[in-house]
Amino acid sequence: MIHLPGVPVPLARVIEMLATLPGIGSKTAMRLGLNLLSRPASDSKHLAEALKTLHEEVGFCETCGCFSEQGNCQFCHDVKRDTDVICLVEQPVDVLMMERGHGYRGCYHVLRGRLSPIDGIGPEQLRLTALDRRVEQGINELILATSATVDGEATAHYLANRYQHQDVRISRIARGVPEGGELEYLDEHTLSRALDQRVNWDTAAL
Ligand SMILES: [Zn+2]
Repeated sequence: MIHLPGVPVPLARVIEMLATLPGIGSKTAMRLGLNLLSRPASDSKHLAEALKTLHEEVGFCETCGCFSEQGNCQFCHDVKRDTDVICLVEQPVDVLMMERGHGYRGCYHVLRGRLSPIDGIGPEQLRLTALDRRVEQGINELILATSATVDGEATAHYLANRYQHQDVRISRIARGVPEGGELEYLDEHTLSRALDQRVNWDTAAL
C-alpha cells in the first residue's frame, strides 16, 4: 500500500484503489477520497453497492456478445431491428458508441478483441464460431466496423476472406474513422457518417 503521511489507513485504501483507474492520478484520487469522506455515509454505501453488483449483474449477450443483464441483450430482443444486417465490432463499448449515432437499425456481433499476432491473439481467441453460425443461418450484410488500426484492418481482411464464399454482402465502414483511431474515442457524428458511407469490401480493399 502507498504510504500517505497522516492519512488514515481506510482512506488510504480508497485513494489507492481510485488511483488505479485510468486518468486518475494520485492527487485526483486524494481529492475524490476526501470528497467521499465529507459526504453522508449513505453516498459511499450506494457507491459500494453499485460497484458490488456491477460484475454480478452485467454479463454478455449469448448471441451477439454485447453487454446484457441476462440472456439476450436489448438489441437481439428488439423485433424492430433488421436481423439481416450485422455490424461487427471489436468490443461491447463500440456498440454503445454506434448507438449514440441513432442511425443504425441492424444487429451487432462483438468479437471481444481483434487479431494481434504480437499479443498471441488469433482467430480462436475471438468470438468467430458464433459469427460463423449467424452467417450460415443467412444474413444480407456483414458490416466490418473494426478499428482503423493495423490490427483492426488485418482483422477486417481476415473476416472478408473467411466469408467471401458465403452469400453475404461484406462492407467496411468508410474512412471517417482516422488512422489509428479507436471507435471508443470518436464523436457520434463521425462514427455515424462512417457507417452511412460504408463501401463494399471489394472496393475498400483496392
Ligand atoms: Zn445480443
